[in-house]
Amino acid sequence: MRFSKAFIPTQKEIPADATIPSHQLMLRAGLMRQLTAGVYVYLPLGYKAMLKAMEVVREEMNAIGGQEFHLPALNPESLWIQTGRRDVPNFILSIKERDLVLAPTHEEVIAWIASMHIQSYKDLPQIWYQIQTKFRNEPRPRSGVLRGRQFIMKDSYSLDASREGLDKSYDLHAEAYRNTFTRCGIRFFVVGASSGAMGGTGSQEFMVEAPHGEDTVALCTQCDYAANLEIASSALPKVTRNEGSSNVEEVHTPNVRTIDQLAEFLKVPRERLAKSVVYRHNGSPLLILMVGNDQLNESKLIAALGGGEVSPMSADDLKGLTGADGGSIGPVNLKGFKIIADKRLEGANGLISGANRNDYHLSNIDLQRDVTLDGYYDLRTIEPGEACPKCGAALKVSNAIELGHIFKLGTKYSEALNVTFLDEGGAGKPVIMGSYGIGIERIVACAIEQGHDANGIVWDKALAPYSVHVIAVNMNSKDVVLAANQVYRSLTEAGIEALFDDRGNVSPGFKFKDADLLGMPFQVIVGEKGLKNGQLEIKRRKTGERTMVAKDDVVSTVQSLLRE
Ligand code: ATP
Ligand code: MG
Repeated sequence: MRFSKAFIPTQKEIPADATIPSHQLMLRAGLMRQLTAGVYVYLPLGYKAMLKAMEVVREEMNAIGGQEFHLPALNPESLWIQTGRRDVPNFILSIKERDLVLAPTHEEVIAWIASMHIQSYKDLPQIWYQIQTKFRNEPRPRSGVLRGRQFIMKDSYSLDASREGLDKSYDLHAEAYRNTFTRCGIRFFVVGASSGAMGGTGSQEFMVEAPHGEDTVALCTQCDYAANLEIASSALPKVTRNEGSSNVEEVHTPNVRTIDQLAEFLKVPRERLAKSVVYRHNGSPLLILMVGNDQLNESKLIAALGGGEVSPMSADDLKGLTGADGGSIGPVNLKGFKIIADKRLEGANGLISGANRNDYHLSNIDLQRDVTLDGYYDLRTIEPGEACPKCGAALKVSNAIELGHIFKLGTKYSEALNVTFLDEGGAGKPVIMGSYGIGIERIVACAIEQGHDANGIVWDKALAPYSVHVIAVNMNSKDVVLAANQVYRSLTEAGIEALFDDRGNVSPGFKFKDADLLGMPFQVIVGEKGLKNGQLEIKRRKTGERTMVAKDDVVSTVQSLLRE
């Protein structure tokens, strides 16, 4: 591509809301523009990088036996009513025609096709995938293309006859994902994840560590334990059970509101304080008991409750129900609430909690004796420095970007949409499904997050829109023009994608700056000085390292550099 004819609108000024490197650089280097919040136009250079990412994904999906589909973005609403997902928040963007849905994912359509054509165990397993546009009404689209309201996803779905089959399809995807991200030159790690609104049993996320990432993960500093904070646990000890329980006593605690104030006031360790957190679950009052200052983790809460709508109870609502304020609520003699507790409190006694009367607490609470509990669950968010559940070393907490997600779905969708097969004995069974996603924009943006410096993007050769950026330093020199055209032609003929800066009205300094900003892996600099010795200069963008190469050796040198 000749720069003089190319549409590469680089820009200096970037909007203030572009705060992360990939967002800023995709704007500056002319890769994309924002049409409206969370909706982006991919310009030719940006789309080229996306196409490369898609091709790597496609090759790796084909390598595990995946078969490519193209499913429609517009779906009949009826399908989504059948699986109960018609009203999942974020999922449906806008429905002008009232009976259509802009698909946020495609389990429903896949299940619909399978329900018509999968008949026997002989038709299984299948891996079906597509690379297609998705729509989600993300509440706060930011971070550039990392969180769009319209974005491109590789989504695949496995159909199996048995749990073992699902395990195999899942492992194949894990392998394909490892190969894909490795080939794209991205440093990533894998964490255990929550299955969220999708239903299902096992799930893992492929993550990139990034200070601006919207996900938070716990990583062991010693072993390979890694989990999304939504499910991460630590080896924090349980609250010990004292021998014998004294009678519950009411204690006057005037103006004591927080756990810290209470610990200070009563001179007791925080572990003895059972904090009440109040919610509504599907409308019904719910009290959650946590140890001291432990933070309730909403994802764990939703998983423990088996899904449904949860929301913190408002102060007025609570006061109306109990006559007391938040700081004085406790589990003893509390009417009308379902009560659950964090696992750390399992069977504990000698606890202090609210008396359901302002300015009073109860001491000597024995959860076995005094409270009707609906169950103990792991409900707390781990803190950095706590012990790894696997090896006991310290955990750290990092921000990360989710590149891909693999789920064992099970039979939720096959049951809802009647996807059954006949097993070897002729019995009808629901097909066991898996679902697997990769964000194409996220591959490109993560590659830029990891590949940039003060001067611009540093592309890995796998995703670089062009492998080589040829720079004709001075277009007034006949020798330069001739040699630059020659090398551009030879590179192109050798199948090497080159961008040729042949602009006549642009200073050498400007061209060098643009080449660094656009970030192709290698620059071939054609200048008068080198040409006097029959040489051109090759600059490696990543390191800035420069070598002079005889004019005729440029193509073979670039070829071997690209093979590295
Ligand atoms: P997140 O937690 O970031 O919202 P998700 O769990 O909703 O992601 P999935 O439904 O599993 O994501 O989608 C599969 C993949 O699609 C994700 O791993 C991610 O790479 C990509 N993806 C999801 N939502 C977006 C989005 N709004 N913009 C760009 N890519 C996205
Ligand atoms: Mg999401």
